[in-house]
Amino acid sequence: MFIEDLTHKLKFSSPFKQREHGDVKYLVFHHTGTSSRASVESIHMAHLDRGWSGIGYHYCISRDGTVYKVRPVLSVPACVKGYNRASVCVAWIGDYEKNKLPEEMAEAGLELARVLLARFPKAEVTWHAKLNDTVCPGKHGIDVVKWIIREVMGSG
Ligand SMILES: [Zn+2]
Repeated sequence: MFIEDLTHKLKFSSPFKQREHGDVKYLVFHHTGTSSRASVESIHMAHLDRGWSGIGYHYCISRDGTVYKVRPVLSVPACVKGYNRASVCVAWIGDYEKNKLPEEMAEAGLELARVLLARFPKAEVTWHAKLNDTVCPGKHGIDVVKWIIREVMGSG
């Protein structure tokens, strides 16, 4: 799959904390809780405003199914309280508590999960609300993550 790499275009306020390949235990799906038309850059700026070093996820998926890599996968993210060192984080741009995900977005999530599981075969696919007290990635998002889990398990 084509992944647009923005990691060298986004300016982070401090160097990434690095981790080992073996630290990764979870592949965690999120939604950004923003408009589905929000840009990666605007989400990055909002996370900087929260005092983080920059966008907290590793990948973002836009409504047309484009996948953006937004920070190196072996950098410790800021996306799951208490589990950051163990998590690779993927965020669908938009709010999927209220809205259904476009099919392109769901398919891109599945494809990206397959790519990441090839690299981290022991990682468990899950979603933010399973690990923290949040609705993220929303009820429609959670339905899609459950579908992704069934698909990746089915393909062995
Ligand atoms: Zn989340």
